[in-house]
Order: sequence, then structure tokens, then C-alpha cells
Amino acid sequence: MNNQAHSDIVLENEHRARVRERYTADEAEVIDLLMEHIRLSDSDRAKVAAAGAQYVDRVRKETSPSMMEAFLAEYGLSTEEGVGLMCLAEALLRVPDAETIDDLIEDKIAPSNWGAHLGHSSSSLVNASTWALMLTGRVLDDDPKGPTRVLRSLVKRMGEPVVRTAVAQSMKILGRQFVLGQTIQEGMKNAREEEAEGYTYSYDMLGEAARTDADAKRYQKAYSDAITAIAKQAKGDVRSSPGISVKLSALHPRYEYTHKTTVMRELVPRALELAKQAAKANIGFNIDAEEQDRLDLSLDVIEAMLSDPALEGWDGFGVVVQAYGRRAAPVIDTLYNLAERLDRKIMVRLVKGAYWDTEIKIAQELGVERFPVFTRKINTDLSYMACAQMLMDRRDRIYPQFATHNAHTCAAVIEMAGNDKDSFEFQRLHGMGESLHGIVKQAEGTRCRIYAPVGAHRDLLAYLVRRLLENGANSSFVNQIVDTSIPSKAISKDPVAEVKALGKQVANPTIAQPHDLFKPARHNSKGFRVNEPASILPLLAAREEFADSKWTGGPMLASSPDPKGTGRDALSPADTGRVVGTVYEATPEEVETALDAAQGGFEDWSSWSVADRADILRKAADLYEEHTAELTAITTREAGKTLLDGIAEVREAVDFLRYYANEAERLEEEEPGTPRGIFVCISPWNFPLAIFSGQIAAALAVGNAVIAKP
Ligand code: FAD
Repeated sequence: MNNQAHSDIVLENEHRARVRERYTADEAEVIDLLMEHIRLSDSDRAKVAAAGAQYVDRVRKETSPSMMEAFLAEYGLSTEEGVGLMCLAEALLRVPDAETIDDLIEDKIAPSNWGAHLGHSSSSLVNASTWALMLTGRVLDDDPKGPTRVLRSLVKRMGEPVVRTAVAQSMKILGRQFVLGQTIQEGMKNAREEEAEGYTYSYDMLGEAARTDADAKRYQKAYSDAITAIAKQAKGDVRSSPGISVKLSALHPRYEYTHKTTVMRELVPRALELAKQAAKANIGFNIDAEEQDRLDLSLDVIEAMLSDPALEGWDGFGVVVQAYGRRAAPVIDTLYNLAERLDRKIMVRLVKGAYWDTEIKIAQELGVERFPVFTRKINTDLSYMACAQMLMDRRDRIYPQFATHNAHTCAAVIEMAGNDKDSFEFQRLHGMGESLHGIVKQAEGTRCRIYAPVGAHRDLLAYLVRRLLENGANSSFVNQIVDTSIPSKAISKDPVAEVKALGKQVANPTIAQPHDLFKPARHNSKGFRVNEPASILPLLAAREEFADSKWTGGPMLASSPDPKGTGRDALSPADTGRVVGTVYEATPEEVETALDAAQGGFEDWSSWSVADRADILRKAADLYEEHTAELTAITTREAGKTLLDGIAEVREAVDFLRYYANEAERLEEEEPGTPRGIFVCISPWNFPLAIFSGQIAAALAVGNAVIAKP
């Protein structure tokens, strides 16, 4: 990866630079900045909260929840059954053989307490599902004491194929609630009813994140065919015509910053071809927002696409902005600036963001400095309001599309819009938010577009799991509106007041920061995101210093500076013409000297307290982190490791050092022993730093001396 080439375009543009700066900004600071964008006064916001609560009351009184909403409310992720169902939905349709399907069903369904849900839901379909799941659970659950045990096990054996079919069928029924049609033609036919009510559609072709180029080409064709079909329904202007939503990850198997050059060369023309087709038909073409790691790269792709002269004069190019991302506001500025520079009008769909759990978990696993998203839902709600105001203020270039199922969020948008109800639209997902948007549309005369997935049920899983994750949480609006024990006012609170009431606790203290993941035991090792320029470019720059360094291996003892053995070149395995350094093999005499020295060292080191030895190891871990640039440079140059593997290698070494320091202290307390003597550690070729450091650290931690051969 050539960091020079990657950073230039961004440094030239102040808005792009701000997007990068915001990546490492503190959550509280970002919230303060966002607060400044919200111009609604205290009384405006009180009005919004009341209007939101009224919507909630009306939805509850006048309508009943869709099957999907009822299902999500009954089996939210706060119940064991909800989690089991999610795992099942996620896995079931992909399992190839009957035996594994049976095991999976037994594992996920049998131990749960389905009976507790019986009769709870207002939806008879959900209650029927509960009956089915309960009976299935009872059949599968072996009762070790009951008199019917033998009979049950017989039913269990006889019944498994039936259960398998029934559960698979239920999952399909569930899926159908989310998919408008299996083909674009079927989807468009099913859309007619809502279109007659004044709704418009944006079709999403299911299947995402291509794994191979063949996948990507298949998805491209599916999008292209869909645009051809949708074009026939074009009404002459983008706003009242149906449109399409596209995932860039479907168009290239390596839609990643590390493959930027390939992405610009291969993905951009594919996406552009589709955009041109949409422009020709004058329908909307929306680029969905995906994981935060793709954000920076997506801005490059978007700029390259939008700059194409063939898109001049077309107002249907759409981009999605995720309000849960800390960079959302500078992204809006960037898009507006781009539209100005190119003299274009664009559409921006504002969402809260569908990958929250993933973003949190990945950041923790990677050990990066910050989460790219907010850690409290209320912060995301506030960010949405701020971004909504930004979009409203930029309507000369941007057609805002507010995608939400939350009554308060809708009420806030309506208040910001004032009397102009025609210069923006609301959006909802197929199968969700129907009642709310029906009421809003009727009361306010606003536009509403339905995002409708189209495709085979086997391609539904990723989409379905995202919906379950984002709406199954008990903090989600969809979950709360169905739970009538929560007063409408409590569901429609003003995020500004709520955030102010947090005082200094703007970040959620219950979510461990990546660095603190293993607290109190130890720090998580510091990591980087190779696909996030704001995270990786500084490391790449620091590695440059070691691009031509020559390292020396040996002499065996630092105290004998003149190696006796002959030196030989260490070569890069990726390019044997490149010398990485010189290695001096030890002579037998040097080995003897080293053994003597180690014996002396052992006597000294083993007399140290465990705590002091542990501190030295922890200090070594900190030093490894400080020298990550050099260490990853040498793992690349000497061991042929990619940057990603080099980072993982250093992190593992750091974790080992801290882990063994802790373990030595624990052992000292729980089962103290005596050091054994001298250890010889030899680095394995495949993990020359991590495993090597682990061997050494474990031996040293408990007071042994080590002779180490790198
Ligand atoms: P709410 O219940 O008010 O909000 C739930 C959301 O709050 C969660 O999804 C999450 O974003 C956020 N949240 C929850 N807990 C926390 C927490 N602890 N800290 C911080 N934030 C939290 N999503 C995409 O990512 N990309 C898209 O391209 C996209 N397209 C969409 C198109 C349409 C038409 C619609 C309706 C949605 C789309 N979404 C997309 C999904 C969208 O992000 C979710 O529907 C949305 O987050 C739910 O928000 P809400 O206002 O309806 O519900």
C-alpha cells in the first residue's frame, strides 16, 4: 500500500481532512460540536417531544403492529429465546445436511422457556409461532425423570424431520415479512398497493459483500436488470419515481482501503455504469452506507463517480450517511462541498446505522483508540437531529431523505422543516414502521419512500440479522412502541435534554473502551485498522524510516561486541535480492560463554521479587508498542508478513508479555514454586516475534534465565 498516493487527495480537501480528524475525536467533544447544529429552542423541542408522544399514542390506539414488529418485541435480544432464534435464523438456511440442522434446532430451541411468551403478543401469528416453538421445545427436551421419557425420545426420533421442516418453514415465513418479492418483477407488482396510497419505493437487491469476482458480476447484472425494470415505471422526476439502493460491497470482493487502487480501477466503472443507467432513466440511485471502515474509501468512490460528466443534470445520485458515526457531520459537509464543486444536486439518506453491535465488537477486538460510533443510543439520536438540521440547511444542493421508524425523530424533522413539506422525504423499511408513517403522511402531507428488499430467501440472512440486531434491543423504538407498559412520553424524550443530563458521562461507561477490554487484569494490546486511513497512515509513515534499515542478528552476547563466527546476509523472502541484515551464527565457544553468563544471570534474576519481574515484562510490552513501526517493518522485510499480519504479530507478543506478568503474580499467590534454571528459546519461522516473545516471557516471569535465538 502506497500511503503517499492515498493521502494526497484528502489533504487537498479540508472537508475530507476533517472527516479523518474526527475519527479519533473524543465522544463528548463530538457531541458538543453536534449540539451547536441543533437550532430548535427549548420550547420547540418540548413541542417535538409532545408530538412524538402523540404519534406513539395514535399508533398504539389506532393500529396494530406488523407481524415483524410484534415478533421483534416479543423475542427481543434481551430474552434467551430471542438470542436463540437469531442464531437459528442466521445459521439455519446455510446448513447443508439434515443431521446438523437437527442438532442446531435442538441446541437453540429445546432449552428455552417458550411457555413464558405464550399469549403475550397482540399478534395471533406470533402467538401461534410461540405455540409451535413451545411444542417443539417440549418434544426435543429430554426429561430425565418424567414417566413419558421413553415416549418422548421416540417422538423425538420420529419427529425430527417434521420439526426440521417446520422450523425452516417458520424462518421462511419470517423472511417473507421482510422481502417484497423474490424477483424485481414480483416486487414491483407487490408494490402497487402502497404506490396507490402515494408511497414510492427504493428497491434493494438482496445479497451483499461479494466474495468473488463472479459474485460481484452476478450482483452487478442483478442491479442492472432491476434498473431496466424500474425504469419502465419512471415518472419523469426522481422524487416521485421508484429508485434503487446499491451496496458497493456487492460490486467488488475487495471493497477495502488496502485495495484502493484496484477498487478505483474496477469497482468505480461498475458502479458508474449502473449510475449512468439510472441517470438515463431519471430514477434515484442510492449508495447504501456499510461498515465504518469503508466510509473513507466510499467518499473516494463517490467523488470519482459523481465527477463523471455523464451524470451532469441528474438529481438522482444518492448517498447514505450514518448518524451513529462520529464523522457524520463532516461527511455531510464533504458531500455538500462536492455537490457545489461539481455543480450537482444530490440526495442524502440519513439513517442512524445498522451495524452498531459489529462496530463496537470489532473496535474492541482490534484494540484501536476509539469507537467509530457513539456508545449511547441517545447520542446517536442527538447526532441524527444535528445532521437532519445540517441537511435541511443545505437543501439548495441536497434532497434530504430521513429514514427512521422513530416517532420522536420524525417529529423533530417535521418541526425543522417548517412549512416546506415537499423538499424532503421520509423513508421506512418494508414491513416496518407502517403505522407511524401512515399517520405522519396523512397528518403532515409528507412524502414517504419504502426501502424494499427483493431476492431469494436464502440471500436474506445478512439483512434479517441486521434487522433483528438493530430492532431487537430493548432500547430500540420498534421494541418500545409495542410494549404498552412504557408510557409514550418516556419513548419520545428530547435527546438534547437527555444528553445534557448526562453531565460528564457522555460516553457509555458500561461499554469497555477497546484498550480496557481486559480490565482490570491488563490492557488490551494497541491495534490499528488497516482499512481506515486515519488509523493506518501514521503507522505506514513511521514504517518508512525502516524501509532500508539493516538489522544485525548476533553476536550471541551483547557484552562481546566482536562476533567470532562469520556473518551471512539475511534476505527478504519476498525479494531475495534485498538484504535485511547480517546474522552471526554463534561458535561453540560463544555458546559456552553464553551458558556461563546465563547461569550468573539466573542467580541474580531468580532472586528478584515476582512483582518486579512482572513490572519489567509490562515495561517491555509498552516498549514493543512504542516500537510497533520498526517491529512490523522487520516482520514484513525479514519474514514476508503483510502489514495486517505484522500488526497481529506485535499485538500477540504484547499480550503475551502482559499475560505472563499477570500469571506469574497469580501463581505466586496461589501455588508458589521455584524457578527451574536456564531455558533456551528458539523462534519459530512463522511467528518469529509473537511466539518467541511468549516463550521468553513465560520463562522469565517465573524467575528463569533465558538464552534466546531469534
Ligand atoms: P431507533 O430505535 O430510534 O434507533 C435504533 C438505532 O440507534 C440503532 O440501529 C443504532 O443505530 C442506534 N443505537 C442503538 N443503540 C446504540 C448505542 N448504545 N449507542 C449508539 N447508537 C445506538 N442502515 C445503514 O447502516 N445503512 C443504510 O444504507 C441503511 N439504509 C436504510 C434505509 C431505510 C429506508 C431505512 C428505514 C433504514 C436504513 N438503515 C440503514 C437502517 C437504519 O440504520 C436503522 O433502521 C436505524 O438505525 C433504526 O433507527 P430508528 O430511528 O428507526 O430506530
